[in-house]
Amino acid sequence: MNWPKGSKIKVRQPLKGRTTFKIGGRAQFFSEPESLPELRSILESAKKNKIPVFILGAGSNLLISDKGVKGLVIKLNSAYFKKIALKGSCIEAGGGVTLNQAIKFAQTKSLAGLEFLAGIPGTLGGALAMNAGCWESAIGDLVKEVGVMDYSGRIKILGSKEIKFNYRKSSLGKYIILSALLGLKKNSRAQIQKNINKYLMFRRKSQDLSRPNAGSIFRNPPQRYAGKLIDLCGLKGKKAGQAFVSERHANFILNRGKASAKDVLGLMRIIQKKVKNKFKITLQPEIKIWA
Ligand SMILES: Cc1cc2nc3c(=O)[nH]c(=O)nc-3n(C[C@H](O)[C@H](O)[C@H](O)COP(=O)(O)OP(=O)(O)OC[C@H]3O[C@@H](n4cnc5c(N)ncnc54)[C@H](O)[C@@H]3O)c2cc1C
Repeated sequence: MNWPKGSKIKVRQPLKGRTTFKIGGRAQFFSEPESLPELRSILESAKKNKIPVFILGAGSNLLISDKGVKGLVIKLNSAYFKKIALKGSCIEAGGGVTLNQAIKFAQTKSLAGLEFLAGIPGTLGGALAMNAGCWESAIGDLVKEVGVMDYSGRIKILGSKEIKFNYRKSSLGKYIILSALLGLKKNSRAQIQKNINKYLMFRRKSQDLSRPNAGSIFRNPPQRYAGKLIDLCGLKGKKAGQAFVSERHANFILNRGKASAKDVLGLMRIIQKKVKNKFKITLQPEIKIWA
């Protein structure tokens, strides 16, 4: 395989440590491009050689197969994709910026609106692809524009009207999200800090952060909470290998230390079966599964 000169592609790169679940095999090819031309030339090579491409953010909504990923994994981890700037009452940030960095930056500029995302361990790119949110708000509500590259290397700027955001999904998934312009509102830094603290406290109360995990495993079915349905099936604490259902939040699967993707998938199947039998509802995964 001939990658473009100077593109520093790594082979058989471990992915486990690049996910919050701490699960997964190796990437056949792995790249952290340092510029748009480098990203474009890598995509062109992958396309020419029919190599599938996967975009990795902070790996906080992902379950990666124990066998790893056959293809090229790209992470927007270089300084180029982590820029963040003030634009009037908006912030413009790269796809590799973490949500917590974006919140903090906005706070230093006395701009509010992102606080509900405090504690979500994702990148801006991953959050936009997933339309991350909580407590009735989602990041899509703040979007003014998103800069994307398609898998042929073409760059587009999409206005908010050209993007569909729905519950934990968006039409941006088919692109590589390079940057976004987010509309915020003036507020005092002290009030923004109060909001951040409030949301972090809600999160600590409701979620289980005691072991590696990937947040909510299943999407909430219409008018129901997946966690409640799983709890009513008596599945809290249920184990499969080294994976187990959290006692605190039944829609969280935790990794006791050495859980495999197989353990998690097995547990997910048990949960789906029990919930289907009891409530006639098929739970759909919220996490992305790279198998
Ligand atoms: C403890 C915990 C709590 C969580 N709480 C919440 C919550 O309250 N609300 C919520 O919505 N989510 C929550 N999550 C899930 C997760 O953090 C979010 O979905 C997050 O936005 C995913 O971002 P990421 O960068 O980690 O994406 P990844 O997990 O790396 O990727 C997720 C998807 O986005 C795609 N993607 C990533 N970056 C890009 C990019 N630049 N361009 C195109 N596609 C991209 C990937 O290909 C993949 O399909 C939680 C997770 C954890 C571990």
